[in-house]
Amino acid sequence: MFNLILFGPPGSGKGTQSEKLIEKFGWIHLSTGDLLRKEIANATQLGLEAKAFIDKGQLVPDEVVIGMIGSALDANPNAKGFLFDGFPRTEAQAEALDALLAGKGSEITLVLALEVGEEELVARLLNRGLTSSRSDDRDENVIRKRLQEYHNKTAIVADYYAKFGKVARIKGEGTIDDIFQSLVAEIEAKQPA
Ligand code: AMP
Repeated sequence: MFNLILFGPPGSGKGTQSEKLIEKFGWIHLSTGDLLRKEIANATQLGLEAKAFIDKGQLVPDEVVIGMIGSALDANPNAKGFLFDGFPRTEAQAEALDALLAGKGSEITLVLALEVGEEELVARLLNRGLTSSRSDDRDENVIRKRLQEYHNKTAIVADYYAKFGKVARIKGEGTIDDIFQSLVAEIEAKQPA
């Protein structure tokens, strides 16, 4: 199995690049943001609870997202690989993911970390807010809170995986296709011959 974490701050292009990577490599795409928005759209209890955090730009509690990922892994026993997008976002989530994968005799293969300057991130998210249905992209205060959460709780996740030599950092500015080619080159360097 090839298990990829596409890592980076909000607005770094994880969603855009995930779609292209899934199409090329045929992995299962697991985006906790998408899963949470689906729960909200279906007005479930979990969705209702998550919405309060999302609307404030705060992370949803670890146990909620870890539970969702555990169920998604169990629901895809024959996957040739998973692309984790927007997860893990805390060190506790990273440790839980490692344990879930170890339970299936697998592990994270590679972490690709997209790097984009702070003001470029804010500009991209505000721009996305003009056309998307995401309320958390429309308010600059919420955007800044999400970036703060990233710096305080999420950035360390790259350091956690760097200890195991699993992280490649990729410049996330430039054309979508150039960034995609950089990601593909790192993945192909890790693919078994
Ligand atoms: P995203 O679509 O990945 O930008 O996620 C949107 C929002 O969902 C985030 O700002 C968080 O409130 C919440 N969220 C998504 N993934 C996670 C996660 N792994 N841990 C905690 N909260 C999350």
